[in-house]
Amino acid sequence: MNSLRRLDIKFVKGIGPKRAELLTKELGIKTAYDLVHHFPNSYVDHSSIYSIRDFSDEMPMLLVKGQFINFQVLGEGAKTRLTAVFSDGTGTMEVTWFQSIKRIRETLRPGVTYILFGKPTSFNSRWQMVHPEVDTLEKALGQIGMRGVYPLTDGLRSRNIASRQIHGWICDLLDSRPPFAETLPASTIDECRLMSLDEAIREVHRPSSPVALRKARERLKFEELIYIQTDMLIRARKRKSLTEGFRFVNVGHFFNTFYSSCLPFPLTGAQKRVIKEIRIDTNTGRQMNRLVQGDVGSGKTLVALMAMLLAIDNGYQGCMMAPTEILAIQHYETLRGMAAQVGINIRLLTGSTPAKARREIHEGLSDGSIHILVGTHAVLEDPVQFRNLGLAVIDEQHRFGVEQRSRLWKKNVRAPHILVMTATPIPRTLAMTVYGDLDVSVIDELPPGRKPVTTMLRYDQQREQVYRGIGRQLASGRQVYIVYPLIDENEKLDLRSLNEGYESICEIFSNYRVAFVHGRLKPAEKDHQMDLFATNKAQILVATTVIEVGVNVPNATTMVIENAERFGLSQLHQLRGRVGRGADQSYCILMSKYKISKETRERLELMTQTTDGFVIAEADMKMRGPGDIEGTMQSGMPFELHIANLATDGQIIAQARQAAECLLDADPDLTAPANRQFALALREATARTADWSRIS
Ligand code: ADP
Ligand code: MG
Repeated sequence: MNSLRRLDIKFVKGIGPKRAELLTKELGIKTAYDLVHHFPNSYVDHSSIYSIRDFSDEMPMLLVKGQFINFQVLGEGAKTRLTAVFSDGTGTMEVTWFQSIKRIRETLRPGVTYILFGKPTSFNSRWQMVHPEVDTLEKALGQIGMRGVYPLTDGLRSRNIASRQIHGWICDLLDSRPPFAETLPASTIDECRLMSLDEAIREVHRPSSPVALRKARERLKFEELIYIQTDMLIRARKRKSLTEGFRFVNVGHFFNTFYSSCLPFPLTGAQKRVIKEIRIDTNTGRQMNRLVQGDVGSGKTLVALMAMLLAIDNGYQGCMMAPTEILAIQHYETLRGMAAQVGINIRLLTGSTPAKARREIHEGLSDGSIHILVGTHAVLEDPVQFRNLGLAVIDEQHRFGVEQRSRLWKKNVRAPHILVMTATPIPRTLAMTVYGDLDVSVIDELPPGRKPVTTMLRYDQQREQVYRGIGRQLASGRQVYIVYPLIDENEKLDLRSLNEGYESICEIFSNYRVAFVHGRLKPAEKDHQMDLFATNKAQILVATTVIEVGVNVPNATTMVIENAERFGLSQLHQLRGRVGRGADQSYCILMSKYKISKETRERLELMTQTTDGFVIAEADMKMRGPGDIEGTMQSGMPFELHIANLATDGQIIAQARQAAECLLDADPDLTAPANRQFALALREATARTADWSRIS
């Protein structure tokens, strides 16, 4: 493999310097190694020849054998095209070219037998093929079988580089090469029953059978994934052995008092389990880095509080950070309410904390009289120094950049334990990859008595009926959210529809007060509007997605989401989590225009069928790809994947993880001779990875 990495593609037969430059620019292919790792994204079957008589519109690209009857150049200027009639003895079709007309005209001869490869389409009940691949009989017979079709770019197409040429270069290269050296340890190949690397690379470009192709793709996916998993595991192991952590040995006064006499309700089984995991983690002498995933409303705040009480019992301070001021205030109030009787000192620090209070807080933190600090990013920017920060909780981490988290470390002499809480469920296999070096806890159980939010899909034509429903909820004393999208590219348009929406709601529900929040408001005005709604002085809140995170108004039982088709599933799920927080039945109405694609309708219908965040996250990932699931993912994904797909290859991810664990258990530094090739390949694969593991 190594020599392939050093072989510049311009020296590969048939490529040359000009095309090499183009391939590098368009596809990032620089070396022969890159070229054989440019995998097909589909295949064509060159094993049977079809008759024009049997053509149907559903047919894919296919082969047909026959002769051209006459050529004609039609049109002028940019509209010039070359057409010919092609006959195979069972029927005729029209073949059209828009480019390279001169060259085609000069090389193709009437009366000679050719094999054409293309997709038949019908137009005015005549069969057509546009820009088919054309081969002479001898040439085509040499290529019978399945063959890869490669991803192209417009840049390549405009320079007449076709998938077939790429295939040709790769085949020439493969034919002139000795077998590729194996990279994976023999034990792994055996245990996971993998195809050899050499066979896999050859099969993936030129499959000998569908079964061989499947095995080849599996092997190549496995290869990509095991590097990621091994890398993650090595980092996690290193962190655990190197980073010393505070030891919370005692479960003492604060924790116990709270547990026995302040807990407003019994903990759910899942909450208990996660608290136990945290207790074990914080008593190992190593620094904890734990991600707690729990659906909206699963009771993460309580878990965070109990973890902080544990820290306090051991003489440390706790800190909890939220992405917005509204949320920070809410957490502050919740925590104070819950912990009122245990006698701890909780303070709030945000961007709008006045200077005097701020000074007091600084003092209290450094002399240790403040036990828990709740705040926003301001905590990070502030010259805050803790006396002894033992545990930092970060809520809704997808709003918190990796870099910001790293600043937490500087607030203390030694790194505090870190608990990251997210309500964005991440499919397990994805978490394994993106947060592969974090320990993950899942709160997979909602407190008892919650009624799942009833979700309905309604179209614009049914708006009146929806308004009548809202009217009934309002009349019975409940509150209502009405949410509008506000997405950058359409910002002006969105702002207009938001304003119009607000006005018409005010008009229709003139007996009620309507609060109005969006991202353009000054923070003070935003807080004021939110407060109106939180205190039920306003019964309706018209808002953009600023309310997505954490807002807690249990009396709000209905949410209408306008232009629901424009939101991702995970986002809809987050939004929907704002209702269904009290004992009453709640409703979420997804408004959409009637004309939407089949996929969009399916997406929205899924929302009406399930409230399980994990099911939704899985579906979202399958539909949109993993990159969109949450913001940090892009920065979190240190590897580029060529063939594996995080959304659909869960099983292979799990298998690769297990294999990596196995290897590292037996040979932690990968120094055994049997793992030599693997260690080298791993180093190559991870060469460009940044060291982001320490921060979360
Ligand atoms: P999350 O942050 O996970 O979305 P919260 O911590 O805000 O959820 O909790 C949602 C609501 O559920 C809160 O009103 C909280 O008091 C309540 N709650 C939490 N745990 C329990 C429990 N074990 N039993 C009943 N209610 C609970
Ligand atoms: Mg929360």
